[in-house]
Amino acid sequence: MTLLETVSGPVDSGELGLTLIHEHMRISSEPLRAQYPHLYDEAAERERAVAEVRRAMRHGVRTIVDPVAMDFGRDVRLAQHVVRETGVQLLMGTGLGYLPLPERFKRRDADYMADVFVHDIEEGIQGTEVKAAFLKCAVDEDGMTEHLDKVLRAIARASLRTGRPIMAHSHPANRSGLDEMAIFEEEGVDPGKVQIAHTGDTDDLDYIEELLARGPFIGMDRFGFDIVLSHRRRVSTVAELCRRGYADRMHLSQDAAATIDWFPPGWIERAVPNWHFTWLFERVLPDLREAGVTEEQIETMLERNPARWLSA
Ligand SMILES: [Zn+2]
Repeated sequence: MTLLETVSGPVDSGELGLTLIHEHMRISSEPLRAQYPHLYDEAAERERAVAEVRRAMRHGVRTIVDPVAMDFGRDVRLAQHVVRETGVQLLMGTGLGYLPLPERFKRRDADYMADVFVHDIEEGIQGTEVKAAFLKCAVDEDGMTEHLDKVLRAIARASLRTGRPIMAHSHPANRSGLDEMAIFEEEGVDPGKVQIAHTGDTDDLDYIEELLARGPFIGMDRFGFDIVLSHRRRVSTVAELCRRGYADRMHLSQDAAATIDWFPPGWIERAVPNWHFTWLFERVLPDLREAGVTEEQIETMLERNPARWLSA
C-alpha cells in the first residue's frame, strides 16, 4: 500500500473506495476572477460544490480526484471547505491546462517549470500544506505546439523527480493521446503512471487500442457530456473494451463541474442536462451492466484502477 496525498492529509491507497477520477469542484476563468470578482458569488459556488459532492457520496463515493489546474481556477481553499463540510477524500493536482503559456513560462525552460510543479508536490499548494497527488497537462483541439511540448516535458520531469502519476487531457479527434505518450516515452516516464484523459470522447476503437498498446490508463471520463459523443456510443465503447480485456486500463467519470463559468446560465441544463456528478450511477452503470459489463469489471474501473494509477 502507498500513502496518497489528499486535501485532508495522506491516505492509504487501499482506503480510496469508490472513486470518481475526474470531477471538478469549480471551473472558473482565472483572469476574470482575479480582475472582476464582482462577477462571482463565492458563497453560492461553495454551496453548490458541497451539494454536488454530497449527492455523489449518497451513491457510495468516498474519493474524488479534481484535476482542475492553472487557468481553470484551481483553489485549494474551496477544496478544503468541501472536505470539511462533506468528509470526502479529495485529491488535487498541479500543472497546466492548454491555454496560451504565461509570459513568465514562455521565456524559461522545462526544468524551471518542473521546479514550480515539484513545489506543489513537496511543499504544498497555494501556501497550504495540501500536497498535489498527481500532475496535470493538456493537449486539446489545436494539437501539440512548441509550448505544449515544453509543458509536457516539464510535467514528465516533475513526475520522474517525485514519482507522482500524470493525467494528460487529450482530444481524441486529433489523436493527441499518442503525441502525449511520445513525449512521455522520450522523457523516460513509465507509461503505467500516465492516464490519457477524455479518451472516451471517441468510439474509434483502432485509435483507443493503439493508445492502450503504449501502456497508459485511459479516461472514459465524460459521461453526460453527450454533445461530443452520445451516451449510447460512450456505453458501447466501454462495454466493447471490457469484452476485449481492458477493464483494468479504464477509468469511469464525468468531468462535471459543480459550477463552471464558461457558459451562460441555463446552457448546461438545456444542452447537456446529464452532465453532473451522479449520472454515472443513475444511468451509466445500469446501461453498462445491460451491455454485459460485470460487477467485477465495474469495481475494477471505479475502485481498483484509481488506486493503481495514483500509486503507480
Ligand atoms: Zn476536466
